[in-house]
Amino acid sequence: MTRSADAIVIGGGIVGMFVAWHLAKRGAAVTVLDRVGVGSGATSVQPGGVRTQWTAPETCRMALESRAFYDEAESVLQPPRSLEFDECGYAFIASKPETLAALQESVDRQRALGVPSAMVSPAELAELVPGLDPDTVCGGAYNARDGYFGRPAAVVTAVEQAARRLGTTVLVQEVTAIRRDRAQWTVRTGDGSELQADHVVLAAGADSAPLAAPLGLVLPVRPEPRYLFYSNRIAPWLVRPLCVFQDEHFAVKHLADGSVLAADLRLGLDGTLDENGWRDLVTWKARQLVPSLEYVRYPVMVAGYYDVTPDAQLIVGAVDGLPGLSVACGMNGRGLMLAPSVGRMVAEELLGEAGPVPETLSPHRFSGNRAFAGERQVI
Ligand SMILES: Cc1cc2nc3c(=O)[nH]c(=O)nc-3n(C[C@H](O)[C@H](O)[C@H](O)COP(=O)(O)OP(=O)(O)OC[C@H]3O[C@@H](n4cnc5c(N)ncnc54)[C@H](O)[C@@H]3O)c2cc1C
Repeated sequence: MTRSADAIVIGGGIVGMFVAWHLAKRGAAVTVLDRVGVGSGATSVQPGGVRTQWTAPETCRMALESRAFYDEAESVLQPPRSLEFDECGYAFIASKPETLAALQESVDRQRALGVPSAMVSPAELAELVPGLDPDTVCGGAYNARDGYFGRPAAVVTAVEQAARRLGTTVLVQEVTAIRRDRAQWTVRTGDGSELQADHVVLAAGADSAPLAAPLGLVLPVRPEPRYLFYSNRIAPWLVRPLCVFQDEHFAVKHLADGSVLAADLRLGLDGTLDENGWRDLVTWKARQLVPSLEYVRYPVMVAGYYDVTPDAQLIVGAVDGLPGLSVACGMNGRGLMLAPSVGRMVAEELLGEAGPVPETLSPHRFSGNRAFAGERQVI
């Protein structure tokens, strides 16, 4: 069976759904294909963090645009219930002077772009994070406007519902091949059917790479494991902002549902410990860094994957030599907080409403001698 659409989006994660919504808003007939269902990949694991503190100017710009969108999201997307965004703040904490100097550089750059971040002293950090010993840290960077969605899974559902109201079709189908037939794209699915469209957007996370390879397009994106540990529900609040201890590669946050989230950002990357060993390490680090977490235990471990690129920057935009094909992958752990901007850029470029996306995000930046700084404030 062959069907047709103006645009086919491969991948129904937060990125694919924002691409679909932006295209549909501009009048395109869109079909989204996901092999498992909307929001089933990395999007199902993310705990809802949204921040604008980054090192690369283009990341800050995308984050600011997306944050502004999320401020209005409930009136624009009209979800049946609130998405519960909480401006709890993000604190990046340094225990080494050189880390503090790097944070200062980032804050200077961020402020020039309109990000309302600021440096904070050890005493100010101790006020933000009760129990933190100011003598153990050099200071940090803080943005009170960064925050968390209390219902992170509801965000992708809200975008999906809004896209469907604009006529978008969502099919649970695995894409097995993409080919260009004359002036059209044909997408083959696992049940043997084919869909045709003028435009195809690859938004399948790290799985975009094997779909692109037969077209001669090399996407250097690969899955990298990440592990989050959760406590049972605890009241009252023990930690209000999301705290990132830069030198210890550790993050902790008391979430809206009452659970404390703790993550050692290097777990699993060296392949040494098992789940219980990691749990002990996370529990110990949390207690050392934030004494108010002394009695917290973390019975639940959740595993997921970042889709990482060599420069930790996104891969977004049209593909040279393959007209009508666009890519939106390589989110490097920040898909939720950048997807509104990514979706707009892809839709506008694809429909010819705007020029190309910045070269620093281009799918072609890895070939030749075009080296870009990439993003460094990944957690
Ligand atoms: C532990 C963890 C914590 C995170 N925390 C945050 C956070 O606080 N804030 C934030 O912004 N981001 C966070 N992220 C990152 C965020 O989850 C991702 O960047 C984002 O979900 C990526 O969305 P996506 O749509 O690109 O990919 P995905 O959500 O992975 O969606 C890709 C989809 O493509 C589908 N697919 C793949 N291959 C095919 C195929 N051949 N045919 C059809 N469908 C296919 C999959 O089924 C999947 O649904 C976190 C990630 C992890 C793992």
